[in-house]
Amino acid sequence: MARRYGEGRSRGGDRLVIVLVIAAISFLSYIATRSVNPVTGKAQYVALSVDQEVVLGLQSAPELTQQFGGLHRDAEAQATVDRVGERLLARGFKGEDVPYPFEFHLLADPRTVNAFALPGGQVFITAALYTRLETDGQLAGVLAHEIGHVIERHGAEHLAKANLTQGLVGAVAVGASDPDSPVSPRQAAAVAAAIGQVVNMKYGRDDELESDQWGLTLMARAGYDPRAMERVMQILAESGGRGGQPEFFSTHPNPENRIERIRASIGEMFPGGVPDTLEK
Ligand SMILES: [Zn+2]
Repeated sequence: MARRYGEGRSRGGDRLVIVLVIAAISFLSYIATRSVNPVTGKAQYVALSVDQEVVLGLQSAPELTQQFGGLHRDAEAQATVDRVGERLLARGFKGEDVPYPFEFHLLADPRTVNAFALPGGQVFITAALYTRLETDGQLAGVLAHEIGHVIERHGAEHLAKANLTQGLVGAVAVGASDPDSPVSPRQAAAVAAAIGQVVNMKYGRDDELESDQWGLTLMARAGYDPRAMERVMQILAESGGRGGQPEFFSTHPNPENRIERIRASIGEMFPGGVPDTLEK
């Protein structure tokens, strides 16, 4: 009896799985659409609209913040991060219509040397990285690189590639729902899964090079010496000296290649040499 009961359940379970798979596939093919990037003009396959990116980023920010010791208490340091970030945004874009409400957060974590960007404009730098930086120009390099990830929509692209149907469905459902309406436990679990994916996201090599390129462009336009980005890479490499791989390189790989590419790009941007008037 128990066995027959189990078989019946299994068949019912199969049907349910098929229904869920069909629903997920149709939903994914609906949302993972080809979309023209509003800033770069490039066509991309992304899992989220710009508005959904912003919602998911805002929903994920508290969890990421918690993972790295909360927000740093040093208001002056946070103000420096804001000032440099705002200068990059104000002067870095020339006529491009940037739809993201950027926010820059200094995280308290004193050991993990890293910086992150969530989809939609939430940018983070740990105290461990911040305190190793020597100039505003270097801080600009880190933040401009992260702005590049947001502008290029690497998170939404990554989510479109990954098989995150359940999480996406939940995340998008909540993103599109009335903020006053209650969220079911299942929806909440799905959102938590999506947030976990976003928070632990690792970008690929091409994404990093693309963000480095944006970083250099934004720095130069905002009046920062793009060569500060080379020093950022050196600082990151040095900080991993005592055993363990530096955290930044697990999410931001290939430091040596990147330094070479950065030098080459700066040479192309400034064929006559980098002017001395730029802030280091
Ligand atoms: Zn990166």
